[in-house]
Amino acid sequence: MKPDAVEVIVIGGGVGGLAAAAALAQAGMHVRLFERRTIIGEIGAGLQITPNGSAVLAALGLGEAAREMGVAARGVVLHDGLTGRVVMRLPVGQRLSSPHPWLLMHRADLMTLLHEAACKAGVGIETDAEVVRIAPDGRRAEVVLADGRSAAADLVIGADGVRSLARGLVEGDLAPRFTGQVAWRALVRGMGDHPPEPHVFMGPGRHMVSYPLRGGRLVNVVAVEERDEWVPEGWHQPDDPISLAMAFRGWCDAVRLRIEHVADVHLWGLFRHPVARRWARGRLVLVGDAAHPTLPFLAQGANMALEDAWLLRRVLAAEESVSAALARFAALRRPRAERIVAAADHNSRLYHLRHPLVRHLAHGALAASARLAPRLFARRYDWVHEYDATAAPLA
Ligand SMILES: Cc1cc2nc3c(=O)[nH]c(=O)nc-3n(C[C@H](O)[C@H](O)[C@H](O)COP(=O)(O)OP(=O)(O)OC[C@H]3O[C@@H](n4cnc5c(N)ncnc54)[C@H](O)[C@@H]3O)c2cc1C
Repeated sequence: MKPDAVEVIVIGGGVGGLAAAAALAQAGMHVRLFERRTIIGEIGAGLQITPNGSAVLAALGLGEAAREMGVAARGVVLHDGLTGRVVMRLPVGQRLSSPHPWLLMHRADLMTLLHEAACKAGVGIETDAEVVRIAPDGRRAEVVLADGRSAAADLVIGADGVRSLARGLVEGDLAPRFTGQVAWRALVRGMGDHPPEPHVFMGPGRHMVSYPLRGGRLVNVVAVEERDEWVPEGWHQPDDPISLAMAFRGWCDAVRLRIEHVADVHLWGLFRHPVARRWARGRLVLVGDAAHPTLPFLAQGANMALEDAWLLRRVLAAEESVSAALARFAALRRPRAERIVAAADHNSRLYHLRHPLVRHLAHGALAASARLAPRLFARRYDWVHEYDATAAPLA
């Protein structure tokens, strides 16, 4: 397709929407983006941008800036959360064949970079602009905004996150299922030095992950607990730090230190959503969480959204029509998204083993496999991290 003849509307100014808007505008397409919030990007805590996500940032021209803003992770360390003992260390930094870094970033910083790139590429961004209706099936797709205005384009990208309006239209509502897990997130200050890597503390029915952000001035803490009581899925619900402290009572000193420094904490319910079976309808396509919301246990939500953005740009350049490009996009993305979402589900079970003997054996098996077959063990997720959406075959 000739890019300068293509008009695109993006619904949602999160990671996926801004990245797709910037990628397509840089390729010469005319892009407008509607975001329902008043400000882009001010909310959130830490995100891990693994090399597969960094590859896309580099292609967008943001590689250097992301390196400057993020902390480069040298590995991932798993601990027994009760004793603090290291179960295994997984080096990442130089071991992966990817030239792109594994970065620990504040979501607001990533959003600032993507926002600037989109603006620089000429994307027309409107905030306070909620899309309330989408008509995807005509010769041009149309969206209607809450204030009654409408706009039409050759392609509409549904990057509107979990509980997406666009997804409802593409494949109807598929009710998410509460996983029986809730997560707290907090940014802590003044905790002292944190090594430049995520540390995971695993224990019965719970785990905690911490890593440094912004040169170590902040530490991102995410703690997950299994419980029957339902909690809504959202990023805005505050909670009392005392309930976090109660949940991790009796855990090791390192966990206690993190919790002692928590002043503000948010709580959200973790829901399992199936990956969309259909990704496109007419001139509407889904990207990011709208297509494949994932549990946070493999840190791939933002990375998959970045991959989507760049692959969409490539298939649009490679195909003669929007419909052919969207069919190819879905065929490429769905199997990978399903595999990643399933791997994240699996990790949630591994981290929370309750029975002391089972936990002891599982931690022992992890430590032994890391010791006896370190290369093999370390390569377990290389298919996730070494994937490069900017160069992978489109077939
Ligand atoms: C406020 C917020 C804070 C987050 N904080 C974290 C965090 O700390 N750590 C973490 O790992 N992940 C966080 N995430 C999730 C993470 O950003 C996403 O899982 C991932 O980046 C995929 O991005 P996405 O663009 O698909 O969805 P999102 O980043 O969720 O973006 C979707 C965007 O679409 C907008 N939108 C939705 N419906 C409409 C509509 N009808 N019209 C216009 N706009 C609409 C939303 O306001 C939102 O800005 C957060 C998400 C949000 C929205």
